[in-house]
Amino acid sequence: MTSEVDFEPSRRGTVLVLPRFEDACVLSEGVGFDRLIAGEERLVYVQPCVAERGRLMATINLGEAAGPPRQAFDPAILCSLLGAYRSRLAEVRCSPGLGIGKMRWKGREISLFRRGKIVIRRALNERDVYRTIRFLLRLIWGSVTCGLCGRTAVNCVVNECGRCARAPPAREKAQTVRLEALLSAPLWTKGYEDLERAAAEISSLQDLVAKLPVEGPHPPIERLESDFRRYVQRAVHSALLFVIETPERDKAVLGLALMGLAHGLEMVHGSSMRILRRLEGEPDLLGALPEAEGPIKAVLGAMRTAWEINVEAMRAFRHGDSDSGLRVKKRYGKLREDLSKLEEETARSGDERLRLVIEDLVREVGTIAQRGLFAAQLVA
Ligand SMILES: [Zn+2]
Ligand SMILES: [Zn+2]
Repeated sequence: MTSEVDFEPSRRGTVLVLPRFEDACVLSEGVGFDRLIAGEERLVYVQPCVAERGRLMATINLGEAAGPPRQAFDPAILCSLLGAYRSRLAEVRCSPGLGIGKMRWKGREISLFRRGKIVIRRALNERDVYRTIRFLLRLIWGSVTCGLCGRTAVNCVVNECGRCARAPPAREKAQTVRLEALLSAPLWTKGYEDLERAAAEISSLQDLVAKLPVEGPHPPIERLESDFRRYVQRAVHSALLFVIETPERDKAVLGLALMGLAHGLEMVHGSSMRILRRLEGEPDLLGALPEAEGPIKAVLGAMRTAWEINVEAMRAFRHGDSDSGLRVKKRYGKLREDLSKLEEETARSGDERLRLVIEDLVREVGTIAQRGLFAAQLVA
């Protein structure tokens, strides 16, 4: 006998909130993906292959399917996605500057151009053409420009644009999915775990900043940094596999969400490093100058809060916890107020050098906090 209802949390497993998007968003409507896959004539042009007799080639106009924005995808993100999938492709060449990507996939030759032209050569037959298109659209999805806001999918997924996320109507519960119900779930879990490892490296980096000035030789910042990059890359790799291997588009978006979080952690890491370098460059502000002590302490406290917001937002996403996501949003608002106050107070103190340092640090702390807000927008 099977039961439809299962109240036991342990048996229910991991429940994730499915982020929802406006209809015209690249994450919802999928860049006219359906029209491409359905082989709408104007968008997909199939002819005999010039590279190999008996095979087919196809020219696809993603730009037109998408809307058309100035560029159909972001070349830098495209190249990083091809890099993350490199082990399963051959002869990958990608130039962010030229906006061209080339590769071989299972014998097919594929070229991608910034404006959205895609050429597939050496396809076996029409079915093979559409199989390749379907694969490609998932592979490059994260880099595709949204027709609604003009940003790329990895930005839209955490609603950086402020336009693409759609809140569930009042009193309506968010749509959720049980992770374990997806065959590709292990890929998602692996990706999330690597994000947590990357986050732990950021925590270590921030511990170091809080302890400034560090006496004697530095702990190995370079190692913290290389470990961080490795975890982020691994997370993006798993996330991409999840996006490719999860059939339903609304669930595959959860992999793009991991990519959006990975991108956010990179920005937090960059800001934390700049805070560290800025303080190291002004050694006498730390300790020796009594009037600096208060503001510096305050801004470092705010840095910790900003980072905690990120950690809480990631957990909220991991556990499909919308209430926790809402708390993060409130905390973000409060922190923003505190940061403005701190800046005003420092400006009134009249010390120009201190004012400039605090201004720089507040900007970086603001970036860190904002990434937490974006992460929270996945669930709230
Ligand atoms: Zn969008
Ligand atoms: Zn957007």
